[in-house]
Amino acid sequence: MKIFAPRETDPIETRASLDPTAVKKLIGLGAEVVIESGLGEKSDHRDSDYEDAGAAVTSDRAGLLGSADIVARVRKPSDEEIAALKEGAIHISFLDPFNEKEILGKFAGAKATAISLEMIPRTTLAQKMDAISSQANLAGYVAVMTAANRMNSIIPMMMTPAGTISPAKVFVIGVGVAGLQAIATAKRLGARVTAFDTREEALEQAESLGAKALRIDLGQTGATDQGYAKELTPEQLEKQRVEQGKVCSQSDIVITTAKLFGRPAPVLIKKDVIDQMQNGSVIVDLAADTGGNVEGTELGKEKVTDNGVTIIGTGNFEGQVSKHATQVLASNFANMIEHFWDKEAGEMKIDLEDEIQSGCVITHGGEVVHERFKD
Ligand code: NAD
Repeated sequence: MKIFAPRETDPIETRASLDPTAVKKLIGLGAEVVIESGLGEKSDHRDSDYEDAGAAVTSDRAGLLGSADIVARVRKPSDEEIAALKEGAIHISFLDPFNEKEILGKFAGAKATAISLEMIPRTTLAQKMDAISSQANLAGYVAVMTAANRMNSIIPMMMTPAGTISPAKVFVIGVGVAGLQAIATAKRLGARVTAFDTREEALEQAESLGAKALRIDLGQTGATDQGYAKELTPEQLEKQRVEQGKVCSQSDIVITTAKLFGRPAPVLIKKDVIDQMQNGSVIVDLAADTGGNVEGTELGKEKVTDNGVTIIGTGNFEGQVSKHATQVLASNFANMIEHFWDKEAGEMKIDLEDEIQSGCVITHGGEVVHERFKD
């Protein structure tokens, strides 16, 4: 089987789908790997590093897109690139299937098998290929480092002959994968951390990392069978906003990571709360790419309010540490291909009855096969 990793075309994307280590693993399975020249340009890997790992390097992007058995890329392809895929080709990437319904029809029309990284089940078995987690973890780290860079103050407590500097107060809202890493990173830097999530389990995890849990009695909240938070009622959200507002007004850094799977993120911090925050404080909105948790967040932008609060909604936070983001993402790709590799046939098998593939294969054999997107 020929696996092709094209360069990313979106100028803001810095990650690559494969790194030399993943190439080696795939070659070890018996696959042929071809990368587009410049694939690792923004993640510190030269063409020669890929060649040393056993890959062929090409500049014939169109030719390879049309002849590869597996295409592995970070972002979704253009309509033209989908149409050019070979019949039966397996295309693995982030697809944003809830918001990109049209693209699913195009994949079906091209008789390609589209696998969406977002839809990989959150199960123990699938953990090694869970790209949402591998990337969110790094985004949580980058959020804290970004905030630290923007502040005119330091994070740890310092006792000096010239006086004592108090530790920064960090408030993390949403304690999933990104939130937990944000807490761990802020704690390592010496911050005093408070955390809130609608799931009690998440609060306990925050406490185990040394954060203080903010507990708000919202009545029934709950989670889906995949471990995702359920949407709150408007009354519950209002109560949450009021209670959180008090913590925000005393925090130097607020990091929001609250997302709802397949839906826009809830707005958790409104202007009235931002108005109460201290001059020089920083909000990093990690939910910016799904609408944002903060009123006024604009994806790709950073702004300072009249009262001196910096709101950062840059998006693609993991892309700021592209070498490591690529390392773990490429490992997710290679682990997935390896998991479904049939050694005797020398190919990746598609089995719609498989518990992982039934979750993440969206189109196959000319049809949209995923239950959630069939209609
Ligand atoms: P996510 O990115 O969808 O959301 C981030 C966090 O925001 C979640 O903890 C969620 O509870 C929280 N949230 C939602 N609405 C909120 C609100 N109104 N206020 C405050 N917080 C709110 O979540 P995620 O990081 O992708 O993780 C989701 C779950 O999946 C977690 O329980 C995680 O532990 C679990 N998980 C399991 C596996 C596995 O078993 N393989 C792998 C990864 C994640």
